[in-house]
Amino acid sequence: MTSADVRGKRVLCRVDFNVPLDGDRITDDTRIRAALPTINWLREHGAKVILCSHAGRPKGQVIESMRLRPAGERLAELLGAPVVIVPEVTGDVPKAAIAQMHDGDVLLLENLRFDPREEKNAPTMAMELAELADIYVNDAFGAAHRAHTSTAGVATFLPAYLGLLMQKEVDSLSKLLDHPERPFAAIIGGAKVSDKIEILSNLVDKVDHLLIGGGMANTFLLAKGKSVGKSLVEADKVNLAYQVIAEAEAAGVALHIPTDVIVSNDINAEHGDVVSIDAIPDDQAIFDIGPETARSYAEVVIGMKTVLWNGPMGVAENPAFAGGTRTVAEAVGAADGFTVIGGGDSVAAVENLGLADKIDHISTGGGASLELLEGKELPGIAAIPEDA
Ligand code: ADP
Ligand code: MG
Repeated sequence: MTSADVRGKRVLCRVDFNVPLDGDRITDDTRIRAALPTINWLREHGAKVILCSHAGRPKGQVIESMRLRPAGERLAELLGAPVVIVPEVTGDVPKAAIAQMHDGDVLLLENLRFDPREEKNAPTMAMELAELADIYVNDAFGAAHRAHTSTAGVATFLPAYLGLLMQKEVDSLSKLLDHPERPFAAIIGGAKVSDKIEILSNLVDKVDHLLIGGGMANTFLLAKGKSVGKSLVEADKVNLAYQVIAEAEAAGVALHIPTDVIVSNDINAEHGDVVSIDAIPDDQAIFDIGPETARSYAEVVIGMKTVLWNGPMGVAENPAFAGGTRTVAEAVGAADGFTVIGGGDSVAAVENLGLADKIDHISTGGGASLELLEGKELPGIAAIPEDA
């Protein structure tokens, strides 16, 4: 984007203002803040900044509670400058408002998904959006895995660039996947093997260490012949876990699975018991990795030049089962190497632990970062020419 001459130009900038609301009140404005560098750069370089975003799932209808006004008002506060909030997506109303804009002004279009054509990547809507502007910038990493009109189609009709946030995401994640400094460890946790199998397959021959935690470790334990009591397991995915174990072995990758765990008979319990993986009681379930496992994972992480983490080590929403996630998070925070965390729940866990500022890159896109880590091409990135 920084190579574009935007002075005096109308720049249509796709942002991700899909923020959580409690009535009219925004409960977390992280996504709006994340878009500020691009918006400020565009303003400082004399662009007329026309912002567009989706919010929620209105499914092609105008839903009053899903209007972007609260996001626009919050943005105005953060910018310390007015934001013109237009209650329509395309057509004469936005056109007239845009015609009034001066260089450096900011305008926000209405929720893109009020238009049923948005999620269909409809060319008619792409042309209508393109008519509003001279240049297109995509800074909505959180929506980059969707081939929608505002993330993909519109790029066909305008000179298209990646925004600063998008660029940072792409740079950080592709550095990690394409030319990581070694040694490189990936810590993969979360609920299910089936959610993460493509990430595991993509990473298994790229890393030096693969550390497995969370509910999905249970399926690996099962593959290793352990009995896991009442734990969350995917008995039909044992073969996938077994395949990852085999691929790691063939690639000379050190695969780590828990040696001890925290068990309980209640996910809401106030504390659990530490047991060896050889002594999991039949009537209890695993809710976290144990302290010995957490320590050994932390030791591996500390020595790495690159660390990727996706998926909590346990049911970290409950403080009783957040210990493994905390120990690993502290180690990732303390590691000298380049550290990246991606995934909605992982990022939330690290933020709740107050360790976010110790991580080199926290990916803002849940689904989008997962798809990149799976090795997929994202439509929102593919739509932007190589040299943008
Ligand atoms: P992310 O959003 O970072 O990709 P996931 O959505 O894959 O992570 O995983 C997070 C979820 O996994 C949380 O809801 C957490 O409670 C759950 N989880 C982690 N460990 C366990 C476990 N041992 N048993 C049941 N659920 C677990
Ligand atoms: Mg999740």
